[in-house]
Amino acid sequence: MSAQNPDLEIAQAATLLPIREIAERAGIPEKALIPYGTTKAKVDVRAMEPTGRTGRLVLVSAMSPTPAGEGKSTTTVGLADAFSLLGHRTMVALREPALGPIMGVKGGATGGGYSQVVPMEDINLHFTGDFHAIQIANNTLAALVDNHLQQGNELDIDPRRIQWKRVVDVNDRALRQVVIGLGGTGQGVPREDGFDIVVASEIMAILCLATDLADLQRRIDAIVVGYRRDRTPVTVADLQVGGAITMLLKDALLPNLVQTLGGTPALVHGGPFANIAHGCNSLAATRLALSLADITVTEAGFGSDLGAEKFLDIKSRLGGLHPDAAVVVATVRALKMHGGVAKEDLGTEDLDSALKGTANLARHVENLRKFGIEPVIALNRFPTDTEAELEGVLAWAKEQGFRAALSEVWAKGGEGGKAVAEQVLAAIEEDSPSYHPLYDPADGIENSLRTLAKEIYGADDVVFEDKAPAQLRMLKRNGWDTLPVCVAKTQYSFSDDPKALGAPTGFVLHVRDLVPKIGAGFVVALTGAIMTMPGLPKEPAALRMGVTESGESVGLF
Ligand code: ADP
Repeated sequence: MSAQNPDLEIAQAATLLPIREIAERAGIPEKALIPYGTTKAKVDVRAMEPTGRTGRLVLVSAMSPTPAGEGKSTTTVGLADAFSLLGHRTMVALREPALGPIMGVKGGATGGGYSQVVPMEDINLHFTGDFHAIQIANNTLAALVDNHLQQGNELDIDPRRIQWKRVVDVNDRALRQVVIGLGGTGQGVPREDGFDIVVASEIMAILCLATDLADLQRRIDAIVVGYRRDRTPVTVADLQVGGAITMLLKDALLPNLVQTLGGTPALVHGGPFANIAHGCNSLAATRLALSLADITVTEAGFGSDLGAEKFLDIKSRLGGLHPDAAVVVATVRALKMHGGVAKEDLGTEDLDSALKGTANLARHVENLRKFGIEPVIALNRFPTDTEAELEGVLAWAKEQGFRAALSEVWAKGGEGGKAVAEQVLAAIEEDSPSYHPLYDPADGIENSLRTLAKEIYGADDVVFEDKAPAQLRMLKRNGWDTLPVCVAKTQYSFSDDPKALGAPTGFVLHVRDLVPKIGAGFVVALTGAIMTMPGLPKEPAALRMGVTESGESVGLF
């Protein structure tokens, strides 16, 4: 183990409570618990009686991320532990980490310091196998489509118009575009194909939005795998394989129970990325947490322009959720970067630049207000921050009339999150939250996109280019243009240009493709240069990883 790896060291040193005890704490009956070892379990929601209760829902989001790291998962976990310490029955509902990015630059996604979900290694590696199940389900469908072509193509699928791609949970840019079926008549029908990362799979989105097994199958049956020569859609129902795909996912649909370092029950389940997919944990897990706890703290990926917007416009609308409060995680370091400071210079005190960067933070706060929620800024304290910087940013927030508090959960666990927790409780009680989605999908996808671009991103307008105009006509032809829209966009900027930091204005949003995900129930709008299969960096995190003789991971963070 290395001293540069405090997250892993803290997680490995922790004494975990048996998962049965965590289940009991959460109010999950023995008969609904399916243990995976002694510190993880799946929860068989089908074996539970309805509690008839719905607790408060707190959504954690953040300012636009920078390479300096913001600590959103850390804050989510620490805030939940703070609520527990304050005597509230609390649960955390987080996404499962994807493996691909862990090998790249991102590190794990289980929080950090003294605010983590554990067992950290298991959760970050193969966990309970959900992502593998999703991968197999996705790729089984791909194999069945290609087999249909090979066996006579009764449905007359146009091999050039197959939409269903293969997926793998590896950042493998070499697989973005491939040719398959080479080698002669016995080896399949040659065609162009491509791979996405598992978290971008429509199966992932479906699993995260399905209310139960029947809904899961209904959604899988509705997936459009491609088009016939006459351009009519071909679905999984046409292929008659929805039952097989649903069967492969029946266990993956059950939420996973683990614990925080503070002993708060945590559901870690589902994990679409927020820049290329809808970015929220499963509806099944969120609903389970709400039925058990007085307060559920959940996180949606990246900022108010990505995960939070999708949480509020897609997941909450579809799942009938009513978020009561939101937290926007901010750091002095990220503020400085949005204020123009280079990453190498972040160690130098510079309140002026941090205050310049508040333009980014303020827009995130204003965005959440547009959904009827008054957010609380959690200023995540890093060891390099100076008192003057922290006080300066908090004073700025006060002047603006924003709720804000210092978060010290990374260093102190739940104890360091009490100030934020108290602000959240005050926001729920005093600010009369009245959540509503931002746009009405019935107004058509062009209008939905314009509303998002103008209201949330700060754009002047939207341009439909490349494949988008033809896709728009196709969506209208099929009656799919009144579905909610899931925008794939860089997380680094409100715009589609990752270099436009701060709070850019005077730009247009470039929509280059519109991809119907009928099973998930939305249309993905691809903007800028965003890719659905990431690559690895020059020095991947994998270079620092290994395993000890006793089987402990090294370099995983
Ligand atoms: P996000 O969810 O925004 O991607 P994480 O919570 O996963 O961020 O944190 C990213 C990394 O930053 C983790 O290694 C974590 O330990 C570290 N980190 C987060 N908050 C702090 C802090 N206040 N001080 C030092 N390191 C932190």
